[in-house]
Amino acid sequence: AAERAIAASRERLGHLTAFDLRPIGQLQVREVHEEDWASAWKEHFPVMRLGGRIVIKPTWRDYDPAPDDVIIALDPGMAFGTGLHPTTRLCLVGLERWADEGIVQGASTFDVGSGSGVLAVGAALLGAGPVRAVDTDPIAIESTTENAARNGVVVAATQGSLPIDEGPFDLVFANLVASILVELAAGLAAAVRPGDGSPGSGGRLLASGIFIDREPEVRRAFAAAGMRVVR
Ligand code: SAH
Repeated sequence: AAERAIAASRERLGHLTAFDLRPIGQLQVREVHEEDWASAWKEHFPVMRLGGRIVIKPTWRDYDPAPDDVIIALDPGMAFGTGLHPTTRLCLVGLERWADEGIVQGASTFDVGSGSGVLAVGAALLGAGPVRAVDTDPIAIESTTENAARNGVVVAATQGSLPIDEGPFDLVFANLVASILVELAAGLAAAVRPGDGSPGSGGRLLASGIFIDREPEVRRAFAAAGMRVVR
């Protein structure tokens, strides 16, 4: 069983390279004692540079910043969002691209399913504000709030989901899964600032966590909710 799991892991790591992210190293295999496991993951959570200047720095690691670095100090605890997951990485790359387009500075921002808060905090560090976050999981809200404080930014995080009686927002992040994106499509559309009809005039939604075979379904749901895919 272990050997099958190793082979499967190796194959999936290979698939990850298709995301066009940084090179992924060789799979390393060793046995660990059960009692070491709870904290063992910390050893495998390195400082990570994503996109060009976003750096995720686990709180227990040292890092010498380069001049343009945007450093997200992170302890995800039990919440999802270490930056190791490809969907989180894709969102951070997207966030940085938005920052390069100049649409993050001063942008009201909403993170649906904030997990560790990595995206909300990243956006705030890049100048977004006010930043609002919700997650159905109370552990995530705790983690988002702690990570915001740790980075000296303000993220208003509360337990919950869509619809939200606030906004609309300039930028919305939703790193969920296809089925939930479809279910929340109308709420997401309502949370995004409407445009004046000209291309790119409205707010933006960055949706992630969509397996390729589910993409058409998500596109249909978003179109039905009045959104247009810009990228
Ligand atoms: N934004 C983080 C975490 C993404 S994981 C990142 O990009 O790394 C997805 C998160 O969404 C989880 O924390 C989960 O608890 C939360 N979630 C799942 N369904 C949700 C829903 N319907 N509404 C709000 N949050 C939800």
